[in-house]
Amino acid sequence: MRTLTFDNRWLRELPGDPETDNFTRQVPNALWSSVIATSVKAPKLLAYSPEVAELLGLSQTDMQDPAMLDALSGNGLLPGMQSYATRYGGHQFGNWAGQLGDGRAILLGELMHQGKRFELQLKGAGATPYSRRADGRAVLRSSLREYLCSEAMHHLGVPTTRALSLVTTGEQVVRDMFYDGNPQLETGAIVCRVSPSFTRFGHFELPASRGEFDLLKQLISFTIDRDFADWHPTQPHKLEINVLSPELILAWFTEICERTAVMVAHWMRVGFVHGVMNTDNMSILGLTIDYGPYGWVDNFDPGWTPNTTDAQGRRYCYGRQPDIARWNLERLGDALATIMPSANDLDSALDHFDSVYITYLTQAFAGKFGMGEWQDGDGEMVNRCFELMMRAEVDMTLFFKHLALLDINNPKLETLMPAFYTEQGFNNFKADFEQWLMVYSQRVQSSLQSPSARLQQMQAHNPRYVLRNYLAQQAIDLAEQNNTSLLEKLHQALRNPYTEQAGMELFEAKRPDWARHKAGCSMLSCSS
Ligand code: AMP
Ligand code: MG
Repeated sequence: MRTLTFDNRWLRELPGDPETDNFTRQVPNALWSSVIATSVKAPKLLAYSPEVAELLGLSQTDMQDPAMLDALSGNGLLPGMQSYATRYGGHQFGNWAGQLGDGRAILLGELMHQGKRFELQLKGAGATPYSRRADGRAVLRSSLREYLCSEAMHHLGVPTTRALSLVTTGEQVVRDMFYDGNPQLETGAIVCRVSPSFTRFGHFELPASRGEFDLLKQLISFTIDRDFADWHPTQPHKLEINVLSPELILAWFTEICERTAVMVAHWMRVGFVHGVMNTDNMSILGLTIDYGPYGWVDNFDPGWTPNTTDAQGRRYCYGRQPDIARWNLERLGDALATIMPSANDLDSALDHFDSVYITYLTQAFAGKFGMGEWQDGDGEMVNRCFELMMRAEVDMTLFFKHLALLDINNPKLETLMPAFYTEQGFNNFKADFEQWLMVYSQRVQSSLQSPSARLQQMQAHNPRYVLRNYLAQQAIDLAEQNNTSLLEKLHQALRNPYTEQAGMELFEAKRPDWARHKAGCSMLSCSS
């Protein structure tokens, strides 16, 4: 096993918890606690991402090394690794939840490769001081979903944390999947996640809520210096030792708002629904983080949420994601405002969120519809289309695939037929859609794009392959039997999600009827 370089700045520069025993507790005035992963009986490397391994400078041989398997399963550390869990709070489903923290995530340190920094983090490697009443473990179904989806999102061009490996533990974990009094034994698993930083909004909210203002300032300075190292030097207001100017905080918060807006605009473009947009699940870098009961829009429906816990309120449904992202930024702003001269000093950053979001969203939708540049008045046409798609039950991904094939000079609704879930939907909304097609085709003609430029624009914005919920579930069912063939094949298709690939036709198909109401395919819970 080659020597890896670790530079564990979080531990070196930020205050830690003096208590080193591993028991559940409140941790005041510190940002991390030392913790050793709980070893597992029979770890097995089920899959790893060669792209992430390469990013980290790990060869195929390194990935097969027994010492690496130990590290990826929590059974040992490689030289330079130090293990710890971080402390954060968060607003969950709109309510302040106090201290949360890495309850089942254990960091292994900051790996340096080619001048880049990567935090490595095991999810499911055992209890930490932040585990509250839970066991610190994770099951195969949720781990596979996280592993595969974070890689799929990366290849879609959506900002995201990455996944290096998926390991089964050889141990079982008890889960009551739907919280209905039916606990079952499930296969235990651990994902090794990778990100320049796993810092969340909640890391800042907790010190602010506890009046730990020096700690809050220290964390902000640290984050700007370590995690915004590319951005910070471009700013007129520099970070001075021990002096954090209000101007710099505002500029930094504005940057966070921008990155978050870009991320959510991408989610809306590809039809991704995060499912648990609590502030502890929001990355300070604007990366998609914490893949839990997420889902992909099949039949277009802004009110759809994959999370059964959210079924009543639909707080985290597809259509509300931009509003919720902004709400979460407001909570982060509240935390930062505790050290600003006055309460509304950060408001302009939220305005910036609104304008960046609109710019990116309209650009994305101009691309999806192949209209060249977005123009005033396009909103009405696009909204009318979404309204019809919802009412007629039309598949989001397939709709845009087939819309790209439309003959703009002679548009026929039949071209779009494969995207309809039912014949009834097609027949009932035929006249409405045909009317819409006339308006749409005129708009596209007015853009003066050549047919090939239009096709290119649409193919660049509309994925052919997304990790439909039922596909992930099929890969899980097989992986439970130790068969990773579908996992590997799906991963392969999702590496080039915008390009048609021979032999991958099955992954383009719309959700089959049996999956409409099946657990794991349309309904997911937080139990993982
Ligand atoms: P989530 O909703 O998955 O983002 O988790 C919210 C909080 O619960 C975080 O602090 C997690 O670390 C913690 N948590 C979730 N599942 C577990 C588990 N199985 N064991 C310990 N902590 C957990
Ligand atoms: Mg979380």
